[in-house]
Amino acid sequence: MYLDKNTIIRWLRTDDPTRLQQLWAEADKIRQTMVGPTVYLRGLVEFSNCCVRHCAYCGLRAERRNLSRYRMTKDEIVNTAFQAEELGYGTVVLQSGQDTSVEEDRWLEQVIRRIKEKTSLAVTLSVGEREPAILEDWREAGADRYLLRFETSDERLYRRIHPPGNEMKYSRLELLQHLRALGYEVGSGSMIGIPGQNYASLADDILLFRELDLDMIGVGPFIAHPETPLAAASSADAGAAQDQVPASELMCYKTIALSRLVCPEANIPSTTALATINRDEGREYGLERGANVVMPNVTPPRYRLHYEIYPNKACLTEDPAACNQCIRHRIHQIGRVVGTDKGFSPRYRKRQRQPVGR
Ligand code: SAH
Repeated sequence: MYLDKNTIIRWLRTDDPTRLQQLWAEADKIRQTMVGPTVYLRGLVEFSNCCVRHCAYCGLRAERRNLSRYRMTKDEIVNTAFQAEELGYGTVVLQSGQDTSVEEDRWLEQVIRRIKEKTSLAVTLSVGEREPAILEDWREAGADRYLLRFETSDERLYRRIHPPGNEMKYSRLELLQHLRALGYEVGSGSMIGIPGQNYASLADDILLFRELDLDMIGVGPFIAHPETPLAAASSADAGAAQDQVPASELMCYKTIALSRLVCPEANIPSTTALATINRDEGREYGLERGANVVMPNVTPPRYRLHYEIYPNKACLTEDPAACNQCIRHRIHQIGRVVGTDKGFSPRYRKRQRQPVGR
């Protein structure tokens, strides 16, 4: 089904339960046909909350003086990766703030090499904007995937929520092209309900997923962090603009479902942010409305508390083994199976078979 912008906007605006049932059913059918019943688990290691950037929505922003900053040691990260492998996850996702120190002395490169040498895990990086030369080094060290959300396709809104300071000379969209050219499996996505985001701009985000031909798509609700500038904006905007996209659970499901329709062969996680706004059933609904990936947290709990991109994150205190049990149970309850391999997306596997330039 080819979706144009107006159709996407109509879906985003509908609250009619009968019509929405059709959208969920269509997304679930396409998910089943294109990526099957398997749910892939990715062990998320939030290895550093140090950050040089000023993103107006994020609790890790450099200005937050009262956040206790940490960077796990290389050994701690590699040991956490071992634990992820023992728990049966095929992938570790190494995520951090924009911690530029990890570029020094080939710090992160060594971590990647050690994980690749000592485990059979796929390694995904989610460490923000980096120089293409460094992205290349990390790829050569064995990194398989890279997640870099473009956050919003609306340039004015993007500039508003990314105040200048330590920004790269490349835009996120340009970096996504570099990542693709380097052979990474490439993921991006956006936040839903950013103050100032309207329906046309969320529809543009979804169209951009298709245009970028993404291998992975991560979307989640904007959750206001009280100690960020965007929290003030979100209460000021609340209800003010008629065209404001709500940061609601329903809007997330619609976006996940529409993402599945525009990128049928992509891997799409049911995200922690979604589980945060509906702890009981958020993950399950996401999986039943287009998603096929979950990212259980394997960060040692003593660090996890400080990786506070937004407050009251789901699964903040459970240890990795408890998260594993809980997530597997939830997946089985909805009649799905847990993947045991690395879980590359069908889109990426096809791309790998295609000659370069096609
Ligand atoms: N430093 C990395 C990783 C950031 S955390 C990077 O910049 O890519 C991963 C994602 O969390 C971000 O891309 C953003 O989309 C999301 N995020 C950050 N703050 C958020 C908030 N307040 N509410 C919801 N999602 C948020």
